[in-house]
Amino acid sequence: METRYIFITGGVTSSLGKGIISASIGKLLQARGYKITIQKFDPYINVDPGTLNPYEHGECYVTADGFETDLDLGHYERFTGIQTTRDNSVTTGRIYLSVIERERRGDYLGKTIQVVPHITDEIKRRILLNATKEHFDFVITEIGGTIGDIEGLPYIEAIRQLRWELGSSRALNIHLTYVPYLAAAGELKTKPTQTSVKQLQGMGIQPDLLVLRTEHDLNDEIRKKVAHFCNVEMEAVIQSQDLPSIYEVPVNMQRQNLDAIIMKKMGMEVGPTPELGPWRNFLERRKRATEMVNIGIVGKYDLQDAYKSILESLAHAGTYNDRKVKAVFINSELITRENVGERLAGMAGIVICPGFGQRGIEGKIIAAEYTRTHDLPTFGICLGMQMMVIEFARNVLGYADANSSEMDVRTPHNVIDMMEDQKNITQMGGTMRLGAYECELVKGSRTWEAYGEQSLIKERHRHRYEFNNGYLNEFQSHGMQCVGINPASRLVEIVEIPNLRWYIGTQFHPEYSSTVLHPHPLFMDFVKACIENQ
Ligand code: GLN
Repeated sequence: METRYIFITGGVTSSLGKGIISASIGKLLQARGYKITIQKFDPYINVDPGTLNPYEHGECYVTADGFETDLDLGHYERFTGIQTTRDNSVTTGRIYLSVIERERRGDYLGKTIQVVPHITDEIKRRILLNATKEHFDFVITEIGGTIGDIEGLPYIEAIRQLRWELGSSRALNIHLTYVPYLAAAGELKTKPTQTSVKQLQGMGIQPDLLVLRTEHDLNDEIRKKVAHFCNVEMEAVIQSQDLPSIYEVPVNMQRQNLDAIIMKKMGMEVGPTPELGPWRNFLERRKRATEMVNIGIVGKYDLQDAYKSILESLAHAGTYNDRKVKAVFINSELITRENVGERLAGMAGIVICPGFGQRGIEGKIIAAEYTRTHDLPTFGICLGMQMMVIEFARNVLGYADANSSEMDVRTPHNVIDMMEDQKNITQMGGTMRLGAYECELVKGSRTWEAYGEQSLIKERHRHRYEFNNGYLNEFQSHGMQCVGINPASRLVEIVEIPNLRWYIGTQFHPEYSSTVLHPHPLFMDFVKACIENQ
């Protein structure tokens, strides 16, 4: 079958959940046996989201092939279980960069380089790129931002052209909008949707389906009105009401035949509706798991999106352990020696979060000391693992000035140090240790058991600093063991204190690879330990 393209645009406001809708459509088509991929095009000028502060754009998600991407790719992977790549995340910066590089090389010699056609052509090339490398039945493309944004215009133009070139059986547009409820009038308002569809039509795109985000149920009258004003059939006006979990969205979309309508519109034979058995089982189990387990999230970003994948991984592991994980944010900047007991009170365990820079690290170190000395399950991820190591060096090995050279270049006890091959790097973007690397597990360790006694695993990284192997023997002889090592570089990837209930730190980010149907083994084991500790 020839590759078909689905474009997802958004109107009225941002944060409507285009990523979740894209992931849900992917999930539903996949359940019908189609090979799919989902990609995101972001209209900002950063070449990738790697250099963005999480306050700007939430977590930076890393693909297995080592590309720093938008957090929506995390949703795509968690929903569909398939791995995305560097070709699934494209920004305006990246588009311009490649056009400008080509211009400098002389590829367009003599020509004036313009947004149309050069930038739009490059956008089109990128949209089609994934399917030139591998066969896909459907390529779902989510366009970041909102219709009407100046920077989004070249993307809309590229879609318009592609729809024309590919024809209606191979290209389709789904527009996501918002239907606000005015409490004072007691009414749901469709005008913003109408306006946003008009804007899209003005740019030459007639949406094929509309997905209306709403906090209240939309009755048939409202859907009819929207259909009427927007030139869309009523059955193609889908409502996406707030649900208790994002993972209910695919089922809710299926109930309204979203996937079947897409296929019908593309002239395809619509077979029987897939059962979504394992997915429904997950939802059922999630609903039944009402008993709570409190887990402290020790970090510096008081913002859900900054730790998106960690929160989702904990939620997955909670469900499969028949518990509801209540993730309690604990601001590491506010943790002191005096108040740490109070701040961590009621927690069955803590996660010490990843991060960069000085802010909030002393609080993470104090938390690591408290949980080590009180035997509270502790999961340190990347910077979190590094803080566990520094704490151990300071308080057990007796190096009061131990630090990471990231925080103190002159520390005489650089137990966390910059890798040799990082020392000459001057550029910030895309130059860390990124992507999936192999890791050998030490037989008999808790980690090895958690991974189902596998000897070789692969996990994704995003960091510049590493455990300093010069100190390895000292750590090991004092009780902190290296239980995971990179077979090629001998870098320490996992530390563990076997004498404690659950005290494990990973240099990699396991949270990037937990999915709804395959929760991550370390999160599973950690949550289990937290429950036992309750
Ligand atoms: N800042 C640390 C490093 O670069 C940890 C990075 C992280 O937590 N992702 O090594």
